[in-house]
Amino acid sequence: MFPAEFINEMRDSLGPERAEQVLSAMAGEPAVSVRVNPRKLMLPALRAHFGTLAGDPVPWASEEAFYLNDRPSFTLDPLFHAGAYYVQEASSMYVGNLFERAKAMLGKETLRVLDLCAAPGGKTTQLLSHLDDTSLMVANEVVPSRATVLAENVARWGLSNVAVTQSDPAAFGSLRDFFDIAVVDAPCSGEGMFRKDERAVAEWSPANVALCAARQRRILADFWPSLKTGGFLIYSTCTFNRQEDEDNVDWICRELGAECLDMRHFYPGEDRGEGFFAALLRKGDSR
Ligand code: SAM
Repeated sequence: MFPAEFINEMRDSLGPERAEQVLSAMAGEPAVSVRVNPRKLMLPALRAHFGTLAGDPVPWASEEAFYLNDRPSFTLDPLFHAGAYYVQEASSMYVGNLFERAKAMLGKETLRVLDLCAAPGGKTTQLLSHLDDTSLMVANEVVPSRATVLAENVARWGLSNVAVTQSDPAAFGSLRDFFDIAVVDAPCSGEGMFRKDERAVAEWSPANVALCAARQRRILADFWPSLKTGGFLIYSTCTFNRQEDEDNVDWICRELGAECLDMRHFYPGEDRGEGFFAALLRKGDSR
Protein backbone atom coordinates (compact mmCIF):
# COMPACT_ATOMS: atom_id res chain seq x y z
CA MET A 1 0.00 0.00 0.00
CA PHE A 2 1.40 3.40 -0.97
CA PRO A 3 1.34 6.48 1.34
CA ALA A 4 -1.82 8.60 0.91
CA GLU A 5 0.18 11.81 0.37
CA PHE A 6 2.16 10.13 -2.42
CA ILE A 7 -1.05 9.02 -4.12
CA ASN A 8 -2.43 12.57 -3.85
CA GLU A 9 0.75 14.01 -5.35
CA MET A 10 0.56 11.57 -8.26
CA ARG A 11 -3.06 12.61 -8.88
CA ASP A 12 -2.10 16.28 -8.75
CA SER A 13 0.77 15.91 -11.20
CA LEU A 14 -0.69 13.37 -13.65
CA GLY A 15 -4.43 13.90 -13.29
CA PRO A 16 -6.68 11.28 -11.65
CA GLU A 17 -7.06 8.91 -14.61
CA ARG A 18 -3.41 8.71 -15.62
CA ALA A 19 -2.33 8.46 -11.96
CA GLU A 20 -4.69 5.50 -11.45
CA GLN A 21 -3.16 3.71 -14.47
CA VAL A 22 0.39 4.27 -13.25
CA LEU A 23 -0.43 3.30 -9.67
CA SER A 24 -2.18 0.10 -10.70
CA ALA A 25 0.77 -0.81 -12.99
CA MET A 26 3.00 -0.30 -9.95
CA ALA A 27 1.15 -3.13 -8.21
CA GLY A 28 2.16 -5.54 -10.99
CA GLU A 29 5.35 -7.51 -11.63
CA PRO A 30 8.47 -5.54 -12.64
CA ALA A 31 10.07 -6.24 -16.03
CA VAL A 32 13.45 -7.99 -16.20
CA SER A 33 15.99 -6.76 -18.74
CA VAL A 34 19.60 -7.48 -19.64
CA ARG A 35 22.19 -5.41 -21.48
CA VAL A 36 25.01 -7.04 -23.44
CA ASN A 37 28.72 -6.35 -22.96
CA PRO A 38 29.68 -5.84 -26.64
CA ARG A 39 33.38 -6.37 -25.85
CA LYS A 40 32.60 -9.92 -24.74
CA LEU A 41 29.57 -11.09 -26.72
CA MET A 42 27.38 -10.02 -29.64
CA LEU A 43 23.73 -9.29 -28.97
CA PRO A 44 22.40 -12.26 -31.08
CA ALA A 45 24.67 -14.61 -29.12
CA LEU A 46 23.24 -13.31 -25.84
CA ARG A 47 19.70 -13.80 -27.18
CA ALA A 48 20.62 -17.35 -28.18
CA HIS A 49 22.06 -17.93 -24.70
CA PHE A 50 18.71 -17.05 -23.11
CA GLY A 51 16.75 -19.02 -25.74
CA THR A 52 12.99 -18.83 -25.23
CA LEU A 53 13.47 -16.48 -22.27
CA ALA A 54 14.72 -13.72 -24.63
CA GLY A 55 11.93 -11.23 -25.31
CA ASP A 56 11.44 -7.86 -26.99
CA PRO A 57 14.25 -5.33 -27.39
CA VAL A 58 14.24 -2.44 -24.91
CA PRO A 59 12.88 0.27 -27.29
CA TRP A 60 15.29 3.06 -26.28
CA ALA A 61 18.31 0.69 -26.07
CA SER A 62 17.45 -1.82 -28.78
CA GLU A 63 21.04 -2.26 -29.99
CA GLU A 64 22.25 -3.46 -26.61
CA ALA A 65 19.38 -4.72 -24.46
CA PHE A 66 16.25 -6.86 -24.34
CA TYR A 67 13.61 -7.99 -21.87
CA LEU A 68 13.46 -11.50 -20.45
CA ASN A 69 10.12 -13.28 -20.29
CA ASP A 70 10.94 -14.57 -16.81
CA ARG A 71 13.61 -14.01 -14.17
CA PRO A 72 16.24 -16.77 -14.27
CA SER A 73 18.72 -17.43 -11.48
CA PHE A 74 21.49 -15.12 -12.71
CA THR A 75 23.92 -16.25 -10.03
CA LEU A 76 23.93 -19.75 -11.59
CA ASP A 77 24.90 -18.36 -15.01
CA PRO A 78 28.65 -18.39 -15.89
CA LEU A 79 28.10 -15.62 -18.49
CA PHE A 80 26.75 -13.36 -15.74
CA HIS A 81 29.91 -13.91 -13.66
CA ALA A 82 32.05 -13.40 -16.77
CA GLY A 83 30.56 -9.93 -17.26
CA ALA A 84 29.07 -10.81 -20.64
CA TYR A 85 25.90 -8.93 -19.67
CA TYR A 86 24.48 -6.72 -16.92
CA VAL A 87 21.00 -7.05 -15.42
CA GLN A 88 19.80 -3.46 -15.65
CA GLU A 89 16.41 -1.90 -15.10
CA ALA A 90 15.11 -0.95 -18.57
CA SER A 91 14.03 2.70 -18.05
CA SER A 92 17.42 3.63 -16.66
CA MET A 93 19.08 2.55 -19.93
CA TYR A 94 17.73 5.79 -21.45
CA VAL A 95 20.88 7.39 -20.05
CA GLY A 96 22.79 5.69 -22.90
CA ASN A 97 20.60 7.55 -25.37
CA LEU A 98 21.28 10.96 -23.75
CA PHE A 99 24.97 10.08 -23.58
CA GLU A 100 25.10 9.44 -27.35
CA ARG A 101 23.45 12.80 -27.97
CA ALA A 102 25.99 14.58 -25.75
CA LYS A 103 28.84 12.79 -27.54
CA ALA A 104 27.49 13.79 -30.96
CA MET A 105 27.28 17.46 -29.89
CA LEU A 106 30.82 17.38 -28.49
CA GLY A 107 32.00 15.92 -31.79
CA LYS A 108 35.09 14.14 -30.49
CA GLU A 109 35.94 10.57 -29.53
CA THR A 110 38.33 11.05 -26.61
CA LEU A 111 36.31 12.07 -23.58
CA ARG A 112 36.64 12.38 -19.84
CA VAL A 113 33.48 11.14 -18.18
CA LEU A 114 32.45 11.24 -14.52
CA ASP A 115 29.79 8.95 -13.07
CA LEU A 116 29.43 10.63 -9.68
CA CYS A 117 26.93 8.35 -7.89
CA ALA A 118 27.88 5.14 -9.59
CA ALA A 119 27.20 2.04 -7.45
CA PRO A 120 26.32 -0.67 -8.22
CA GLY A 121 27.47 0.24 -11.74
CA GLY A 122 24.51 0.05 -14.15
CA LYS A 123 25.22 3.40 -15.83
CA THR A 124 29.01 3.03 -15.56
CA THR A 125 29.08 -0.29 -17.40
CA GLN A 126 26.56 0.93 -19.98
CA LEU A 127 28.49 4.12 -20.73
CA LEU A 128 31.81 2.24 -20.88
CA SER A 129 30.32 0.37 -23.82
CA HIS A 130 29.64 3.74 -25.48
CA LEU A 131 33.21 5.03 -25.00
CA ASP A 132 36.31 4.30 -27.01
CA ASP A 133 39.57 3.10 -25.42
CA THR A 134 41.23 6.52 -25.51
CA SER A 135 38.56 7.93 -23.17
CA LEU A 136 38.59 7.94 -19.38
CA MET A 137 35.70 7.08 -17.09
CA VAL A 138 35.83 7.95 -13.38
CA ALA A 139 33.19 5.96 -11.50
CA ASN A 140 32.69 7.33 -8.00
CA GLU A 141 30.66 6.05 -5.07
CA VAL A 142 30.75 7.71 -1.65
CA VAL A 143 29.46 4.76 0.42
CA PRO A 144 32.40 2.39 1.05
CA SER A 145 30.50 -0.93 0.97
CA ARG A 146 28.74 0.12 -2.24
CA ALA A 147 32.05 1.26 -3.78
CA THR A 148 33.34 -2.31 -3.29
CA VAL A 149 30.39 -3.73 -5.23
CA LEU A 150 30.93 -1.08 -7.92
CA ALA A 151 34.60 -2.05 -8.25
CA GLU A 152 33.64 -5.74 -8.60
CA ASN A 153 31.07 -5.02 -11.31
CA VAL A 154 33.46 -2.73 -13.18
CA ALA A 155 36.24 -5.37 -12.99
CA ARG A 156 33.81 -7.98 -14.36
CA TRP A 157 33.02 -5.66 -17.30
CA GLY A 158 36.68 -6.02 -18.19
CA LEU A 159 37.84 -2.60 -19.47
CA SER A 160 40.96 -0.75 -18.39
CA ASN A 161 40.02 2.89 -19.10
CA VAL A 162 38.02 3.27 -15.88
CA ALA A 163 39.02 4.31 -12.37
CA VAL A 164 36.77 3.60 -9.39
CA THR A 165 36.94 6.20 -6.61
CA GLN A 166 35.28 6.47 -3.21
CA SER A 167 34.94 10.18 -2.50
CA ASP A 168 32.44 12.75 -1.41
CA PRO A 169 31.26 14.78 -4.45
CA ALA A 170 32.95 17.85 -2.90
CA ALA A 171 36.35 16.23 -3.60
CA PHE A 172 35.75 16.78 -7.33
CA GLY A 173 35.19 20.53 -6.91
CA SER A 174 38.89 21.29 -6.92
CA LEU A 175 39.35 19.49 -10.27
CA ARG A 176 38.42 22.48 -12.42
CA ASP A 177 37.11 22.16 -16.00
CA PHE A 178 38.11 18.51 -16.26
CA PHE A 179 35.13 16.39 -17.40
CA ASP A 180 33.39 16.56 -20.78
CA ILE A 181 30.32 14.66 -19.56
CA ALA A 182 29.10 14.02 -16.00
CA VAL A 183 26.34 11.67 -14.94
CA VAL A 184 24.61 12.38 -11.63
CA ASP A 185 22.22 9.49 -11.00
CA ALA A 186 21.28 10.97 -7.69
CA PRO A 187 20.23 9.30 -4.43
CA CYS A 188 16.49 10.01 -4.30
CA SER A 189 13.20 9.18 -2.60
CA GLY A 190 12.81 6.21 -4.98
CA GLU A 191 9.10 6.54 -5.82
CA GLY A 192 9.72 4.91 -9.18
CA MET A 193 11.11 1.82 -7.46
CA PHE A 194 8.22 1.34 -5.02
CA ARG A 195 7.16 -2.00 -6.50
CA LYS A 196 10.73 -3.34 -6.22
CA ASP A 197 11.79 -1.77 -2.94
CA GLU A 198 9.55 -1.93 0.13
CA ARG A 199 12.04 0.14 2.12
CA ALA A 200 11.57 3.07 -0.27
CA VAL A 201 7.81 2.94 0.47
CA ALA A 202 8.40 2.75 4.23
CA GLU A 203 10.86 5.67 4.21
CA TRP A 204 8.77 7.95 1.97
CA SER A 205 7.38 11.19 3.41
CA PRO A 206 7.04 14.77 2.11
CA ALA A 207 9.84 15.74 4.51
CA ASN A 208 12.10 13.05 3.06
CA VAL A 209 11.36 14.23 -0.48
CA ALA A 210 12.43 17.77 0.52
CA LEU A 211 15.55 16.35 2.16
CA CYS A 212 16.47 14.35 -0.96
CA ALA A 213 15.95 17.40 -3.20
CA ALA A 214 18.25 19.51 -1.00
CA ARG A 215 20.89 16.76 -0.93
CA GLN A 216 20.75 16.49 -4.73
CA ARG A 217 21.38 20.24 -5.05
CA ARG A 218 24.34 20.00 -2.69
CA ILE A 219 25.84 17.10 -4.68
CA LEU A 220 25.39 19.03 -7.93
CA ALA A 221 26.86 22.28 -6.62
CA ASP A 222 29.82 20.45 -5.05
CA PHE A 223 31.06 18.69 -8.18
CA TRP A 224 30.02 21.43 -10.68
CA PRO A 225 33.41 23.20 -11.10
CA SER A 226 34.90 19.93 -12.42
CA LEU A 227 32.59 19.97 -15.47
CA LYS A 228 33.98 21.88 -18.46
CA THR A 229 32.18 24.91 -19.84
CA GLY A 230 30.19 23.51 -22.76
CA GLY A 231 30.27 20.07 -21.13
CA PHE A 232 27.16 18.00 -20.53
CA LEU A 233 25.36 16.88 -17.40
CA ILE A 234 23.00 13.93 -17.39
CA TYR A 235 20.90 14.29 -14.25
CA SER A 236 18.63 11.39 -13.32
CA THR A 237 16.52 10.05 -10.47
CA CYS A 238 14.21 7.09 -10.02
CA THR A 239 11.46 9.24 -8.59
CA PHE A 240 8.38 11.03 -9.94
CA ASN A 241 8.02 14.22 -7.91
CA ARG A 242 8.67 17.75 -9.24
CA GLN A 243 10.94 18.81 -6.38
CA GLU A 244 13.63 16.23 -7.14
CA ASP A 245 13.11 16.32 -10.91
CA GLU A 246 11.88 19.43 -12.79
CA ASP A 247 12.47 21.85 -9.90
CA ASN A 248 16.06 20.70 -9.54
CA VAL A 249 16.60 20.97 -13.30
CA ASP A 250 15.29 24.56 -13.08
CA TRP A 251 17.65 25.16 -10.16
CA ILE A 252 20.65 23.81 -12.13
CA CYS A 253 19.83 26.17 -15.02
CA ARG A 254 19.29 29.15 -12.76
CA GLU A 255 21.98 28.73 -10.11
CA LEU A 256 24.70 26.78 -11.93
CA GLY A 257 24.29 28.31 -15.37
CA ALA A 258 23.13 25.48 -17.61
CA GLU A 259 20.66 24.98 -20.41
CA CYS A 260 18.24 22.06 -20.36
CA LEU A 261 18.17 20.32 -23.73
CA ASP A 262 15.83 17.47 -22.92
CA MET A 263 14.06 15.74 -20.07
CA ARG A 264 11.86 12.71 -19.89
CA HIS A 265 9.84 10.77 -17.34
CA PHE A 266 9.27 7.02 -17.55
CA TYR A 267 6.11 5.67 -15.92
CA PRO A 268 5.20 2.01 -15.25
CA GLY A 269 2.19 1.10 -17.38
CA GLU A 270 3.23 3.65 -20.05
CA ASP A 271 6.82 2.48 -20.49
CA ARG A 272 7.96 -1.08 -19.86
CA GLY A 273 10.21 -0.43 -16.88
CA GLU A 274 10.29 1.27 -13.50
CA GLY A 275 9.74 4.96 -12.82
CA PHE A 276 12.68 7.05 -13.97
CA PHE A 277 13.53 10.64 -14.82
CA ALA A 278 16.47 11.85 -16.89
CA ALA A 279 17.55 15.26 -18.15
CA LEU A 280 20.32 16.40 -20.47
CA LEU A 281 21.86 19.78 -19.67
CA ARG A 282 24.76 21.77 -21.09
CA LYS A 283 26.98 23.91 -18.87
CA GLY A 284 27.10 27.56 -19.87
CA ASP A 285 29.51 30.19 -18.59
CA SER A 286 32.21 28.90 -16.23
CA ARG A 287 31.09 28.74 -12.56
N1 SAM B 1 24.14 4.97 -10.92
C1 SAM B 1 23.91 3.74 -10.19
C2 SAM B 1 23.64 2.64 -11.18
O1 SAM B 1 23.24 2.91 -12.32
O2 SAM B 1 23.87 1.47 -10.84
C3 SAM B 1 22.82 3.89 -9.16
C4 SAM B 1 23.07 5.03 -8.22
S1 SAM B 1 21.92 5.17 -6.90
C5 SAM B 1 20.51 5.79 -7.67
C6 SAM B 1 22.55 6.57 -6.04
C7 SAM B 1 23.89 6.37 -5.39
O3 SAM B 1 24.24 7.58 -4.70
C8 SAM B 1 23.93 5.25 -4.35
O4 SAM B 1 24.92 4.33 -4.67
C9 SAM B 1 24.26 5.98 -3.04
O5 SAM B 1 25.11 5.24 -2.19
C10 SAM B 1 24.94 7.24 -3.53
N2 SAM B 1 24.88 8.34 -2.54
C11 SAM B 1 24.19 8.37 -1.37
N3 SAM B 1 24.41 9.53 -0.73
C12 SAM B 1 25.24 10.25 -1.50
C13 SAM B 1 25.84 11.54 -1.37
N4 SAM B 1 25.60 12.31 -0.31
N5 SAM B 1 26.66 11.95 -2.34
C14 SAM B 1 26.91 11.18 -3.42
N6 SAM B 1 26.36 9.95 -3.61
C15 SAM B 1 25.54 9.50 -2.65
